[in-house]
Order: sequence, then C-alpha cells, then structure tokens
Amino acid sequence: MYTYREDAVQKGDLMLDDLNSLEMRRSMLLGEFLGLGDLRPGSITAVSRRCGKPSCHCAKHNDPGHDPQFRLTRRVAGKTVTETFPNPTALRKAQQEVAEFHRFQKLSQDLVTLNEKICQLRPVAQERGGWTEQEKKRLLRSMKRWRGK
Ligand SMILES: [Zn+2]
Repeated sequence: MYTYREDAVQKGDLMLDDLNSLEMRRSMLLGEFLGLGDLRPGSITAVSRRCGKPSCHCAKHNDPGHDPQFRLTRRVAGKTVTETFPNPTALRKAQQEVAEFHRFQKLSQDLVTLNEKICQLRPVAQERGGWTEQEKKRLLRSMKRWRGK
C-alpha cells in the first residue's frame, strides 16, 4: 500500500512536499483572481438627512429623518472624494464593486502570505551551486581589467 508520509521520512522531502502543496494552493488562489468582477476602492456610508425646516417631521427630536443618503468616499492623492448615488440601483452597483474590491484585497493578502512561506521553503539553488564556466570567465576577465588600471 502506498503511504505518502512514510515515503517522505527525510526532512528535505517533507519540505518539498510542503512546497508543492503551497505552490498548488498558489495556483488555485491565482485562479480566483480571474473570477473577480468590476471592483473599486471606497467605503459606503449612510447619512441620515434633516432638511432643516422647523415645521418638518424631521425636526422632531426622535424622528429618524428623511431617507438616508448614501455616499461613497475614497482617498485620492490625500484628499477625500465623495460620490452620491442618484438611485438605489446605482447604490447597489457600487456596493457590489466595493465588495469585490475587498475580495481582491483579501486574495492579495493571502497571495503574499502564501508567497512568503514559499520563499522561505524554496531552496537557494535547486539545480546547482557555484559559478558556471561562463560566469567564471566573465569574472576573471573583469578582474584582469581592474588590475590593468
Ligand atoms: Zn425634513
């Protein structure tokens, strides 16, 4: 019977096993980026409105006010830009776009975390160490040049 863990007794093998599974998770994660829809940053807040007329119901202390106004704010070059929505459909569209942006941020964070682990586990040089013949020649040539000066 095939048992994977018993095959991977050596620590190096275990590390490669981890590396492989991390790379697999990275591929899946990268695939999720392709599923992202329209996205944009910003935060949507509701502002309850009072029109200011003393005779209006909204002037009463415990009145909830008029329909709340929804705004999207975002920072552009250090300044806050505010956007309001003409109708509920426009608001829902923006909510979807902002939610998608948060999904993008979460995916990005996960991708970086995963890559940090991969970088830690990745051996320095898998194929070979030392200089190649070409590198050696190039190095020696440049050293002669330095000495010649
Ligand atoms: Zn009012």
